[in-house]
Amino acid sequence: MYHRRTEQGGEKSDQPSGAGHPNAGRQAGGALRGSLPQGRGAPFGLYVHLPYCLHRCSYCDFNAHVRSDPPFDAMAAAILADLDGQIARFPAMAMRPCTSIFFGGGTPSLFPPDRIAFLIQGFAERLKLIPDLEITLETNPATREHGRFQSYRDAGINRMSLGVQSFDEADLRFLERLHDADQAQRAIQEAVAIFPRVSLDLMYGLPGRDLAHWQEQLRQGLATGVGHLSAYQLTVEPQTPMGRGHAAQPLALPDDDLSCDLTETTWALVDRAGLTPYELANFARPGQRCRHNLHVWRYGDYIGLGAGGHGKWGEEGKIWRRANPKSPEGYLADPHQGPWQRVLPEQGLEEALLSGLRTSEGVVRKRVQARTGLSLPLIPETLLGGGWLNERGARIAASREGWMMLDEVVVRWLVHAQEVRSRKG
Ligand code: SF4
Repeated sequence: MYHRRTEQGGEKSDQPSGAGHPNAGRQAGGALRGSLPQGRGAPFGLYVHLPYCLHRCSYCDFNAHVRSDPPFDAMAAAILADLDGQIARFPAMAMRPCTSIFFGGGTPSLFPPDRIAFLIQGFAERLKLIPDLEITLETNPATREHGRFQSYRDAGINRMSLGVQSFDEADLRFLERLHDADQAQRAIQEAVAIFPRVSLDLMYGLPGRDLAHWQEQLRQGLATGVGHLSAYQLTVEPQTPMGRGHAAQPLALPDDDLSCDLTETTWALVDRAGLTPYELANFARPGQRCRHNLHVWRYGDYIGLGAGGHGKWGEEGKIWRRANPKSPEGYLADPHQGPWQRVLPEQGLEEALLSGLRTSEGVVRKRVQARTGLSLPLIPETLLGGGWLNERGARIAASREGWMMLDEVVVRWLVHAQEVRSRKG
């Protein structure tokens, strides 16, 4: 079962524009190898990792750094220098349409609104931003102060993602969040009044909490009327304070049955509230899906900036990935360190399947071929007949049962492709 947030890596159109999809012959394995027609019209997203936090939450294994006096100006300058370096490597970045910007963290809402405005202006001077650009800011309710949300809106932010996690005071203390339930509610109300699109993050599967407790948190979240909800199950990572405590004295985490009940209850309640699951942990009212994340799940290209930010780029008939240094100080010293590394087509295909099948729309044959250079391998009958995958025309999507076992579904599909290759080869 999936618990974790993935990289925030968006797109408007269903298909990247560009040349056709030439098949250059069947390669050993059943997949067709072609070129990567990522033309100059292919859209991309921009992810900016702002790594500073006021305090480390007990469960956090994100790239987050607590600093007493974060150097906001220097970090903003380094981010634009980083972008200049990436454009020098791939000049097409300045020509293809950028359809989304996602400020993630860390706590991006620690950055003063004028630094966010400075960055957006810097991106506009260097990139081709589309007119109805989606710009998301992840926000911690504890950073809300009078007038700040409106200043972010004035800076250009049009989508706010609020890390609420729970409305229960004991949960918030256990997670070591800095806000209380009242601050969360006030932040949501102000955000809904100012931003056209607001998303909440909520977390379930906390130790000792039953189904009714989660239903109450979800009820309160849905009652706010926000258009988007991300609901994740707590994962206790060993290297976190919570993980170390769990090793010394095990927490009463939910068993598999309760985990399934929590997930199925989430789907049922959000559905009743008018939100549709478009990814296994993300739910939206019509028109409220996160364009940026959807683009990443569709295996689209995105630029990664900031400490620990990572990007993926398709050009020159190849897929490239790049990761920045995680330490803010290392990034500030040299924002150009992250080397571009090739992603082999077979690895790209696996990544495209894993991320695409997270979405309710599934994977689309032409899109996968355009973005990996390979066509989808034959689907084993056990996955179709077993009800784990559904094939509708050119789309293959996971069923709810398939979502619950997604890693295994993808492994079975790829192993089947390997067996076909071996028989042919
Ligand atoms: S606010 Fe988010 S990124 Fe920062 S420590 Fe807490 S969970 Fe980690």
